Amino acid sequence: TVVTRFAPSPTGFLHIGGGRTALFNWLYARRMGGTFLLRIEDTDRQRSTDAAVDAILDGLKWLGLDWDGEAVSQFGRKDRHAEVAHQMLAAGKAYRCYCSPEELTAMRDAQKASGQPMRYDGRWRDRPDSDAPEGVAPVIRLKAPQEGETVLKDLVQGEVTVQNAQLDDLILLRADGTPTYLLAVVVDDHDMGVTHVVRGDDHLTNTFRQIQIFNAMGWDLPQFGHIPLIHGADGAKLSKRHGALGVDAYRDLGYLPEAVRNYLLRLGWSHGDDEIISTEQAIEWFNLEGIGRSASRFDFAKLDSLNAHYMRQADDSRLVGLIAPRLEADLGRSLTDADRDLLTRAMNGLKQRARTVVDLAQSARFYLAPRPLAYDDKAAALLDDKGRATLAELAVRFANEVDFTAAALEAQVRAFAEERGEKLGKLAQPLRAALTGSTVSPPIFEVAELLGRDETLARIRDTAV
Ligand code: GLU
Repeated sequence: TVVTRFAPSPTGFLHIGGGRTALFNWLYARRMGGTFLLRIEDTDRQRSTDAAVDAILDGLKWLGLDWDGEAVSQFGRKDRHAEVAHQMLAAGKAYRCYCSPEELTAMRDAQKASGQPMRYDGRWRDRPDSDAPEGVAPVIRLKAPQEGETVLKDLVQGEVTVQNAQLDDLILLRADGTPTYLLAVVVDDHDMGVTHVVRGDDHLTNTFRQIQIFNAMGWDLPQFGHIPLIHGADGAKLSKRHGALGVDAYRDLGYLPEAVRNYLLRLGWSHGDDEIISTEQAIEWFNLEGIGRSASRFDFAKLDSLNAHYMRQADDSRLVGLIAPRLEADLGRSLTDADRDLLTRAMNGLKQRARTVVDLAQSARFYLAPRPLAYDDKAAALLDDKGRATLAELAVRFANEVDFTAAALEAQVRAFAEERGEKLGKLAQPLRAALTGSTVSPPIFEVAELLGRDETLARIRDTAV
């Protein structure tokens, strides 16, 4: 059965490219009824932090990518990695190299000067340990094949071949006994039973070296799939400006996890022309063959339109929960049950026109804003003498309306418009300005009904100077 894994290095937030890699591995495992494992590659003790681990776990949880079993700490497996290096040594697949740092530098300088590619020249490959200089702690190097070629049948990139002569004898265990990254990854992928390694194509060159380690141990190779990186809309490498943010930043910008998930799925994978793909459909359809070979471009407009779609679908009380903290910060007070109830009833009208949760909170604000409302410039312009005179008449009619519903209020204003020979929209404009402080809002009679008679009349009264 299929076993995939996501193996982030906890040196920063879970960035959006990592989120996509995790998503693809998760989807493939779920699609195949397999297992999705999480391994924290925390062997770089200087750069790995607990805060980064937490940020990664939070990001995965927010995206809804649940992993199977406990997250594995790579650092915690260092003894096992060293054990494997010693097994290779005993089997003659690896050797001790006693080069001093100065010697290595001299080797590189000479290669550089003569225009040769810089690589370890294998000088300790066949030299006995009895030649070892005093006081030099050796590293353990892989005795890599020097002839022939290593062929990778990549699930995304197709067949890629490297001449073995181009790969030098990589270090497995450092002089201080710590494993190198290449060794750790191979041992972990093997021990965890990983069948499919799906990761960014920046790891492609590592893969050839990792294959040599697998082969030296006589272990079965997993299948590899290297996904093209994400570029900015302009085709350049992804930077912050382009959307290379942490997954948490997308939450803060007001995107829903299901929208981000759908967006990331489409970033490099396709299913015909489908743009909106639910997670259930994605699990049903996902395959590795559908991953494109060229870099994908990050496009905020697309993300916005997907987000708008998922917001319209989202449950009203969930959306209230999402905007509540933003409104509380903005209004400087806690929301009451009555506030939440009002927002829930207003949500259907509000969510039709918002792109993000941030927009949604902003557009909901007028419902709870303290009186008198602040009017934006366009709204203020509508509240001139003429507008105020209209509102005064509407106020009388609204005060006498028995049935304070959107339909009844609309009928009132319609009748009034006919008497006056004016258009309904014309009379509704100052009303919108008075009730919302703006010229854009959900349908205004619905707004009036939700605000209720007292608040509606009070807001109209506030416009009289
Ligand atoms: N830890 C590596 C990274 O964060 C991933 C290694 C892998 O997937 O094999 O780039």
